[in-house]
Amino acid sequence: DANIYLFVRVARLGSRYVLLLAEDRTESYRLESVRRDFVANISHELKTPIGAVGLLAEALVSASDEPEQVTRFAKRLTKESQRLARITQEIIELSRLQSADGLAQAELVDVDHVVSVAIDQNRVAADLSRVTLVSGGVSNVEVFGDETLLVLAVDNLISNAVQYSPENTRIGIGVRQRAGAVEISVTDQGVGIPEDEVDRVFERFYRSDPARSRHTGGSGLGLSIAKHVVQNHGGDIRVWSQLGHGSTFTIRLPEIDHAVAQPTGDKK
Ligand code: ADP
Repeated sequence: DANIYLFVRVARLGSRYVLLLAEDRTESYRLESVRRDFVANISHELKTPIGAVGLLAEALVSASDEPEQVTRFAKRLTKESQRLARITQEIIELSRLQSADGLAQAELVDVDHVVSVAIDQNRVAADLSRVTLVSGGVSNVEVFGDETLLVLAVDNLISNAVQYSPENTRIGIGVRQRAGAVEISVTDQGVGIPEDEVDRVFERFYRSDPARSRHTGGSGLGLSIAKHVVQNHGGDIRVWSQLGHGSTFTIRLPEIDHAVAQPTGDKK
């Protein structure tokens, strides 16, 4: 919103003068309200799986003399608790990324390596979903950054592509240099995103059309995490999508300026 919050202090200086001190607190008010929303969302997001775990535990107790039921409930209990663990992990990750301004440590990172690790992390899921991951080959590009975080961002894009793609489709993952940037793109032939929702997918906890998303058991945090990782690297992330045809998510990272980014090995 466009409100400006001023904190005003008044002091008398003798009998003739009054001193007014005004401090612009707009930013801290904004951060406070972002924090409140975040906490409210988290509570909401955690309620469902916690409730499910409770109900399943009760069901397990009352089904104790029916082995088949016990197995069924125990499996669902395991699944719900894994979901809970994943959401919690993602919340921790996101709040860390949100409070970080830039990167704690950056080094030269081989982008092909980032992509191949992220692809490997999704192989099993892709096989199970019967989709094919196609790598665009070798680019030999490096960026300055945090390898673990970059893998996390690319992994989120690929795992979404897998989740939102039907069987027997392909997911292309490519790297290229363009206009002073390094682009990593993930293209799927999946369900696509409705035009009026495409701008919102990077918001925390946002999930387009719950009916389509619910069965995947996601948290709605993956893209938000990817966006923060990329922003902390000085880059940006974009999406192009067509409902029913597929989506392309593109991460753009600043190219290394080799004049500046010389290794500093001789600094002893
Ligand atoms: P999650 O996948 O856990 O729901 P994300 O933040 O990763 O959360 O994604 C937010 C939403 O964006 C998803 O719920 C889904 O509706 C939509 N989305 C993300 N990636 C894709 C994709 N490749 N194809 C179609 N929809 C997608």
